[in-house]
Amino acid sequence: MPITILGCGISGLSCGVKLQEAGYTDIRIISRTLPPHTTSDVAGGLWFPYKAEPISRILGWSKATFQEMMLLRSHPEAGITMTRFFQLLPHKASNDAWWSSAVEVYRPLAEKEILAEFPYLPQGRFPSGFYAEVPIAEPHKHLPYLMNRFREQGGSIEVGVVERFADISAKNTVIVNCTGIEAKKLVGDESVFPIRGQIMVVKNTGISRSITIEAADEHSEHATYTIARSEDVIMGGVAMVGNWETSVDETTVSGIIARCAAIEPALANPTIIQHKAGLRPGRTEIRLEREKLPDGCAVIHNYGHGGSGYTVNWGCADEVVSLVKSL
Ligand SMILES: Cc1cc2nc3c(=O)[nH]c(=O)nc-3n(C[C@H](O)[C@H](O)[C@H](O)COP(=O)(O)OP(=O)(O)OC[C@H]3O[C@@H](n4cnc5c(N)ncnc54)[C@H](O)[C@@H]3O)c2cc1C
Repeated sequence: MPITILGCGISGLSCGVKLQEAGYTDIRIISRTLPPHTTSDVAGGLWFPYKAEPISRILGWSKATFQEMMLLRSHPEAGITMTRFFQLLPHKASNDAWWSSAVEVYRPLAEKEILAEFPYLPQGRFPSGFYAEVPIAEPHKHLPYLMNRFREQGGSIEVGVVERFADISAKNTVIVNCTGIEAKKLVGDESVFPIRGQIMVVKNTGISRSITIEAADEHSEHATYTIARSEDVIMGGVAMVGNWETSVDETTVSGIIARCAAIEPALANPTIIQHKAGLRPGRTEIRLEREKLPDGCAVIHNYGHGGSGYTVNWGCADEVVSLVKSL
């Protein structure tokens, strides 16, 4: 059965690799852009469920992804590293983090422990938090690794734009739609929306912990986080719902530095390697389902992963394989 995957970001590549593992041999990826020119290249690559729904399905997908990432650590070329991750909350948590059962090392943090780890923070600012050890898939290594793995197993990757499914469904192929934010236009899906992000890649001068702050106002456009990777640190960021701007905004940079330096003072004067901006593919819910086209051809949709593309990719790919098998 020929399979055509649309999109060569983290979603399309994970599906390609998993379908090959399941025994499908005739698979091609068609994509308007290839790494390093996809939204997936803009990401920090941290495993952390963020700005994606529904939580009920995300827990399973993120758990499966966590486990796959842990296995991939034995392949250095896959670019997977581990980080000590702190989520700081502006209130006292009454429950464990909803994602805690997906990770291996986790504990809730009392304010006393937070102040011991971050002694410069004012008392009362973060009354609680969560600690976990989580993987990072560094996109500049991980995406080329997946492309190589897919090609070595006989997959083909072509640059091309598919304007409508009918153009390829006539060739009697199963279509896997991993077009991210651009699914809005391809499918005419009004529930897809951009969540603009902007980050800086800076020199790592010995930072090994990653931090994210939960904003007091869930609608805030500020998303403050640092991600310590093997050779650099990601400083972020913003989460601007409905904003389609993909160029870097200079005024956002100073805000990011000020907010990150407040939680990680070693980043007050960073050596900036690169600025990046991109659109998280927001959707009311991740769309992972099968659709039958009028010509009888099957499309498996897998898009709308918001800020969690690297957190759910393997779990979603497993489900895509199940849907293809069920055809
Ligand atoms: C600043 C920022 C930081 C982020 N950090 C993280 C993080 O730390 N952890 C995390 O889990 N997530 C993070 N994300 C979210 C993550 O990047 C996305 O969820 C993920 O990249 C979505 O991957 P995708 O493969 O679905 O889409 P994309 O990477 O956008 O790939 C879609 C592909 O489809 C192709 N395409 C589109 N339309 C067509 C068409 N009609 N025909 C052919 N090809 C087409 C495109 O060219 C592209 O190659 C971040 C996002 C941003 C912007």
